Amino acid sequence: MNRCRAGAARAAVHRSSWEELNPPIPTYGEHLPDGSGIELVRDASDLTKTKLLLRAGERVTIEHEICTDTCRFVPADLNSALLRQLHLPVKDLPYGTTSALVGQIASTLMQASELGADIAFLVAVFAIASFFSDCLLTPLCLCLIGCANAEARSLLRVLSWFCRHPVLLVDHAGIDQLPENLTATRFLYAPKPSAKLRKLVANLQAFDFGVIRKGSLRENRGAVVIYSGSTGVGCGFEDASLRVPVVSARRLLRPGDEECYRDIADEIRAKLLNYRLMHYDNVKRSEFDVTGLTGPIRELALGLGACLIDASELQDRLIALLRVPDESVRMERSAEMAPVLESLLVFCHERKTAVHVGEIAKTGNDILSARGEWTKLSPKEVGHKLGLLGLQTARLDADGRGLKLTRAVCARIHQLAKDYGVPAALEKGLPGCPDCKQFFDQQSNSARGARDAHRARKNSGRKINEAHPA
Ligand SMILES: [Zn+2]
Repeated sequence: MNRCRAGAARAAVHRSSWEELNPPIPTYGEHLPDGSGIELVRDASDLTKTKLLLRAGERVTIEHEICTDTCRFVPADLNSALLRQLHLPVKDLPYGTTSALVGQIASTLMQASELGADIAFLVAVFAIASFFSDCLLTPLCLCLIGCANAEARSLLRVLSWFCRHPVLLVDHAGIDQLPENLTATRFLYAPKPSAKLRKLVANLQAFDFGVIRKGSLRENRGAVVIYSGSTGVGCGFEDASLRVPVVSARRLLRPGDEECYRDIADEIRAKLLNYRLMHYDNVKRSEFDVTGLTGPIRELALGLGACLIDASELQDRLIALLRVPDESVRMERSAEMAPVLESLLVFCHERKTAVHVGEIAKTGNDILSARGEWTKLSPKEVGHKLGLLGLQTARLDADGRGLKLTRAVCARIHQLAKDYGVPAALEKGLPGCPDCKQFFDQQSNSARGARDAHRARKNSGRKINEAHPA
């Protein structure tokens, strides 16, 4: 008995010296090198307090303090308002299959907010992706598009039920002052967004890039959901975002709704936590790729698709639905750059060696007016668009700045016209123009390739049918 006490005392002394050497580390969550994860949860016996959940494979521990071989983790302090907003679950629950989880979130969204099936599916995938925003290289942004303030507030609240660590904020106040290591999903209500908010939101798009504030580096992490009224955020933010329409007829959240959906929302959050803990490394190592979509939408598709584990049918549906906004982004980009690029092609085909910015603007305006457009391009706007296209102007002579049309520059202009899908520019091409010829050679090669592939598929299909006659 005494020996036991002496042993227990030695263990206590040993433990207290280990604790002195390892002061507690406050945390909002950790992903450990052995693949296990620590997450902040609410204390089931006192919902005003937090605990830490450690999941290592199938083993789960929920404690006030989690000790690893080298560290002691304790829950980071949260004030009561932040704790209320974060919607922390008390434990994790088996999520079933990815498809079942997406389906459960989507159907709850459809009931609570009357979203259509396709939009609800996209939002459900976004909610899942928000649980991996700290390991994706993609900025995750969702914009509520429209002008219906009360309906937008309702929808923001409903969406916040399913995203990781949601924080509902008004405009820019406090957006950059959340606790430093807390990866939150910021829900921004800004019917008239301030200049500062636009700047901060534009900064959030540069995922993982930081800003130095009061001598310390703060990195931009976490998903963003924003309602910015009829003004929008601008800076191409909407183009790179998942867009959800918000209309004035949409159902408003009633006082009893949050209570009514509390149990199902709690269950889904516990499943989402489990999904994150089980798949963090899978998402981080994902090789999911997508072709045929353009810049910003492709990046978004990559981020969202990477989070759909063992669910290729869901990835296919995601890509099919993202093709619609991708096409409208493509058309907007094309319409914006077409007059400048078509004007430049005219000068390339005239074999001019240089062209002034003013001449590009004049020819661009002639093209616009021939199409019955009222808008006009100023030389200043043309200079700005040339910069966006990566075509550097230089001072040519006393008449001002312009472009030298070297062979390389003409080839680049043709490539840009093709990339931007400039309509009339390359329909037929100019006989004798080496760049047009190259473009049409490429087109006929790819068409021949497609024909060959089609023929090969037909032949192999015939062989299969011959081998297995019906
Ligand atoms: Zn040409």
